[in-house]
Amino acid sequence: MAKVVSGPREDDCWLWVGAIADDGYRRFSLRREGRERMVRPQRLLFEHVTGRELTRDVELLHTCDVPICVRVTADADTHLLADDHGANMRDRERKGRAGRHQVGMRGLSRRQLATRSRTLRDLVLTMGWNREAIAAVIAGAGADQPTLFDWPA
Ligand SMILES: [Zn+2]
Repeated sequence: MAKVVSGPREDDCWLWVGAIADDGYRRFSLRREGRERMVRPQRLLFEHVTGRELTRDVELLHTCDVPICVRVTADADTHLLADDHGANMRDRERKGRAGRHQVGMRGLSRRQLATRSRTLRDLVLTMGWNREAIAAVIAGAGADQPTLFDWPA
């Protein structure tokens, strides 16, 4: 949790501010069974918090659609839910580009996602939790521009 910045509100995201891979998601280096392994911190956290082991076929579903969010709790306020691949795909389809976060981070290419995720991380690291700036980055408007879009609930 040393590399996580969480928002002040009860339902705010917990943003990963460590290394971000080229696919826009977070990375974490871990030594396990004598060898270095790259793990996704939200999976590690999920297993730790819920006590459930995540097999390869189980995906974690972001209810907030923010790729660097690692908010995992054992309660209903979690932002990450374990689900099978099919459910993840269905969720993606259902929300799609016309979904709740029309101008959010869904539908971006891997490169765009990585750039956006890193911008978001750097913003949080330099400015702390600035709700408007964070919402602007997620909406793709740039941190210094005002935005009509509120932080995802
Ligand atoms: Zn979140």
